[in-house]
Amino acid sequence: MFIHNKKLQYTVRVSEANPVLASLMLEQFGGPQGELAAAMRYFTQALAEEDPGRKDMLYDIATEELSHLEIIGSIVAMLNRGMKGELAEATQTEADLYRSLTQGGDSHTQAILYGGGPALTNSSGVPWTAAYIDTIGDPACDLRSNIAAEARAKIVYERLVNVTEDPGVKDALSFLMTREIAHQKSFEKALCSIEQNFPPGKLEGKRQFADLYVNTSQGSGDSDGPWNSGDEWKRLDDVVGQIPLDGGAGSATVKLTEMEAQDLTTFMRRMESHLDDGRRGDPAAHEPRGG
Ligand code: MN
Ligand code: MN
Repeated sequence: MFIHNKKLQYTVRVSEANPVLASLMLEQFGGPQGELAAAMRYFTQALAEEDPGRKDMLYDIATEELSHLEIIGSIVAMLNRGMKGELAEATQTEADLYRSLTQGGDSHTQAILYGGGPALTNSSGVPWTAAYIDTIGDPACDLRSNIAAEARAKIVYERLVNVTEDPGVKDALSFLMTREIAHQKSFEKALCSIEQNFPPGKLEGKRQFADLYVNTSQGSGDSDGPWNSGDEWKRLDDVVGQIPLDGGAGSATVKLTEMEAQDLTTFMRRMESHLDDGRRGDPAAHEPRGG
């Protein structure tokens, strides 16, 4: 079950209302790298997790992400709070209200459509979607994806920290950013604690191709690095000379029934191109059929 505690995980002190900054902050509320996506990602993974240790970690982090959603949502609400009353009560001139809402981002949409409350959208007003979550139900895959998700969330917070001078907002964002570092660390440790985590899954793959680096982009700029050279790699430079890599004919075939083959032949004859006379089917050169 979930229980709500009325205290935030971290204190939010916003110096002054700023609807345009509020719309930027929505990126971490309803955006792809935001807190709702993180909470739903780990919560759904926790439900299906078989390993008791990882299940516990996923519930802990999912619940913390909901607490972060509360913090970033509170920042948005505070930044919109000044405008909220002004818009509802129409105490300012139309021109002043218009100016305060239309300086950038989607602050006008937020104010007019959502009344200043945090919308489940990204900073451009795109609605949140479950398509942000790429869970596949294999811990070696999902933990890698979680590590990447935390890395991206950290970077988005860093960029948001860099666009505001408000010390309270900066402080709360720095806290949220730092927690993503801690989550990334937990997921990396959890991945390493699975002895057989590479390659993911049970099948080893075809041995002769698993350590093969295919140098398909050749010319000036060709580089060597740990990703393509050394003891762990076989390298293929004569790409054209070696295809197909299986030593077969390199064509695509399928066995068809007699009926399928007949229909296909009829279709091919009907659609055949006649290289000798390109105007045979030219609508400009012939009367319409039956006309
Ligand atoms: Mn978070
Ligand atoms: Mn996180």
